[in-house]
Amino acid sequence: MEFEEGDRVKVEKGGVQYEGIVMPSTTGHIIIKMISGYNAGIDPQGATVTIIQKKQDMPVSSKAAGKGGIRSKPGLPKVSILSTGGTIASKIDYRTGAVTSQFSADDILQAIPELTEIANFSGKAIYNILSENMKAEYWQELSRAVVEEIKNGADGIIIAHGTDTMMYSAAALSFMIDTPVPIVFVGSQRSADRPSSDNAMNAICAAKVAVSDIAEVTVVMHGDGSDDKCSIHRATKVRKMHTSRRDAFRSINSEPIGYVDYATGEICTSLPYAKRNEKELALNNSLEPKCALVKFTPGASPDILGYFIDAGYKGIVIEGTGLGHVSTDWIPQIERATSKNIPVMVTSQCLNGRICDRVYDTGRDILKAGAIEGEDMLPEVALVKMMWTLGQIQDYGAAVDILKGNIRSEINERSLM
Ligand code: ASP
Repeated sequence: MEFEEGDRVKVEKGGVQYEGIVMPSTTGHIIIKMISGYNAGIDPQGATVTIIQKKQDMPVSSKAAGKGGIRSKPGLPKVSILSTGGTIASKIDYRTGAVTSQFSADDILQAIPELTEIANFSGKAIYNILSENMKAEYWQELSRAVVEEIKNGADGIIIAHGTDTMMYSAAALSFMIDTPVPIVFVGSQRSADRPSSDNAMNAICAAKVAVSDIAEVTVVMHGDGSDDKCSIHRATKVRKMHTSRRDAFRSINSEPIGYVDYATGEICTSLPYAKRNEKELALNNSLEPKCALVKFTPGASPDILGYFIDAGYKGIVIEGTGLGHVSTDWIPQIERATSKNIPVMVTSQCLNGRICDRVYDTGRDILKAGAIEGEDMLPEVALVKMMWTLGQIQDYGAAVDILKGNIRSEINERSLM
C-alpha cells in the first residue's frame, strides 16, 4: 500500500530506522516527524517504508476538525501566508506529527482573528520544519513559491519561519527576488500556548507591513522589552541576538527600517526603502551551495582553511577578529584560495562596525593575498551573498566585483554606528 501524508510509518535506510508521521514534502524526500519532535528528510532511493498506521485510523484533533472557510472582505488587500514551520506555526501538533491540524491560512485566522480586519488571506504550507533544517535548495523553492503568489495577484507576502535561521532565508530571498510588493518574514520566540507568546503580535504587525508600501524583504518581530511595537528590519541587516527574549532580533550596523505600533497599527519609518511597484518582479535564484563561513580563533590551524580549498569549495567567507584579521599563518592559505579563483571575503566577529584591513600589517597582507573586505556586512549575509553571487556568475573577476558591490543595502556606504 502507498503511504501518504499523515500516515505513521517506519523508514529503513542504510541500517538506520526512522519512525514517525509523514509530513508534506516538496523536494522528493520523505519527510517524517519523529517522536522526538524533530524531522528527518530521507532520500527515497534505497529506502523501505512500512506503514504502521494510516492517517484515517488516527484520532483527529478537535481544533483541526472544525475549520471554517477563509472569510473574504471586499476591498481589503490580498496577502499570502507561506509557512515553512517553526514556533510561529506551532498550531501544528508536533506530538502527533501535526498533519491532522496542518497549518493553513485558516488555522492562523482562527487563532488570530484580528488579521481578518487587515487583509484577505490565503495560505500554503511550503514546509513544516524547524528552521535549523533549512537548506539552500529550500530557499530556492521558497523563492519560487513567493514569486508564484505575487504573479497570482498577492499584494503582500508573509513567510512564517522559525527564528533560528530566519536571517539567512530572508537575506537569500532578498538577493534572489526583485519585488514590487512587501515580503515579510515573521516568527515567534514563544509558542502560542504560552501566555507570553509573541506570535499574535508579530503576525498582526507582519500583516500591517505586508499591506504597506515597504516593498522589500523584511523581518518583522517584537521590537523591545515592552509589548508596544514590532521592528521592521531590513533582511540583509538583521540578526537573532538572543536565545529566548522576544526582542531577539536586532538590526546590526543599521537602524531598523521602522516600527509598527501594535496599538494603532501605524507604521513609522526612519530609513529610505524601496516603495511598492517601484521594481518589476524578477527572480534570480541560482545559488552555489558549496560556500563556507569559517570562524578564525586564536591558534586555529590554517589547515582548516586548507580543507575547504581542497574539498572543492567555491567561495569562502572568513569571520575574522576585530577589523578583519586572521593569524599570519592563515595568509598563505588565503593566497592559495584566491590563486585558484576561490573568492575569500573577510567579515568580523565584532558584528558591529566595518572591516578595515589597512591599519595593521596582517590586514594589509590579507588584502595582498587577494581577500575582499566584507565592509560592514554580517558574516551570515556575506555567506548568502557569496552563494548567490557564485550562483549567478562564474567569472572570478566579475564575481569579485559583485561581492564588493552593494546589491540590497547589505553594505552601508559609511558606518552609522
Ligand atoms: N528552532 C526553532 C526554529 O528556528 C525556533 C523557532 O521556531 O523560533 O525553527
